[in-house]
Amino acid sequence: MSYEAYKDDSLGFTTRQLHAGYNPSEHYRSKAVPIYQTAVFELGDYDRCVRLFDYSEEGHSYVRFSNPTNTVLEKRIASLEGGSAALSLASGMAAISNTFLNLCNQGDEIVAVQTLYGGSTTLLSHILPDYGVKGRFVDDEDDLDSYKRQINEHTKAIYVECLGNPGMNIVDIEKIADLAHDNGIPLVIDNTFATPYLLRPFEYGADIACYSATKYLAGHGIAIAGLVVENGKFDYLNGRFPQFEQFYEEYRKYIEPEQLKREIFTKRLRIRCLTDLGAHMTPQTAFYLMQGMETLSLRMERHTGNAQKIAEFLEKHPKIESVNYPGLPSNKYHELARKHFPKGPGAILSVNVKGGRAAALKVLEHVRVFGYMVNVGDAKSLIVHPASSTHFSQTVEERAKAGVYEGTLRLSVGIEDVEDLIQDLAQALEYA
Ligand code: PLP
Repeated sequence: MSYEAYKDDSLGFTTRQLHAGYNPSEHYRSKAVPIYQTAVFELGDYDRCVRLFDYSEEGHSYVRFSNPTNTVLEKRIASLEGGSAALSLASGMAAISNTFLNLCNQGDEIVAVQTLYGGSTTLLSHILPDYGVKGRFVDDEDDLDSYKRQINEHTKAIYVECLGNPGMNIVDIEKIADLAHDNGIPLVIDNTFATPYLLRPFEYGADIACYSATKYLAGHGIAIAGLVVENGKFDYLNGRFPQFEQFYEEYRKYIEPEQLKREIFTKRLRIRCLTDLGAHMTPQTAFYLMQGMETLSLRMERHTGNAQKIAEFLEKHPKIESVNYPGLPSNKYHELARKHFPKGPGAILSVNVKGGRAAALKVLEHVRVFGYMVNVGDAKSLIVHPASSTHFSQTVEERAKAGVYEGTLRLSVGIEDVEDLIQDLAQALEYA
């Protein structure tokens, strides 16, 4: 009898979230993925040491570079995403910042949408510019010409998010990917809010997916973690990325050239960025993440089912001015949601409460099941007032662009019994 589920990518998503990438016979037949709690591995002999350091042999030498627990996680997310390779990092922001650093040299630019997670906006508008890498923001995410206007010979990627925060806007990934490819650059997508279960960015032409795995992938609000996955199709040797040409010349001697081309983004991300910038994910975190990912598809179905019912309830509520959830037929992005998110457009939604900030704060004060906090993607339901927290440092105009007003509340709908969640919101809204 031989166990082969670990390497069979034709198996269904839910089967692969339990098995992909882990062969127990390589780990003393432990059924759970072991946590390799060590900082360093024996090199064996001189020849093997050289092979590990020139990357001609896959193995482990020092845990800042790689670890067997993380390797299973990386293979698992690559399988779930349909990508050629993946890398685990210390946080979502580490995944995103290292991705930009891998793509850009001094003088390069990234074209991005404005409706990004705040940390990503700050990175592109305030931090990277100090190091010679500029973020250029499109005026209107829904208009392809806005993207075209920002692209020039310095542009090294277009960067979008699967669902805008907190307005839940959806961009047309296919059209933006075509535009990126026409300009010889990759499309990078932060797929945190959707996960590979709800949205398949590579099937619409995206080239790199970044995750704050802290959210739905881990699923229980217990760990900070990041992942980057590449699809293996983009040609980084197209003349626009000198750093990848140089890397290819250096490593083609050691890594089979076709494999190197398929995984070149991830190989360089590990060997140049992770190794020397040091944002490695601990093996414990990789273990927690895999525990969470074992139930990803089940949780996401429940999350989205609950969110849809709550959105429908809130849309009819007399104290609610408007609801932003693309699962509602009245929503501007409903058609795109049906195309990109056949299983439902996630479980984060925002509402504008009649009566502005004072009314919104009354709801926050009175919820009993929803937890008041800034996180999203927890199995438990969460609620927050963005204008006084996640979007606090922005001007009124910037907030309005992101769909944040005085009376806006953002809900991250959990997997509790939906009747309890609706009842909780109903009673809290009585005070608004
Ligand atoms: N991307 C999105 C969409 C997020 O919501 C967040 C955090 O909230 C991040 C990235 C950053 O992730 P982390 O907190 O894991 O660094």
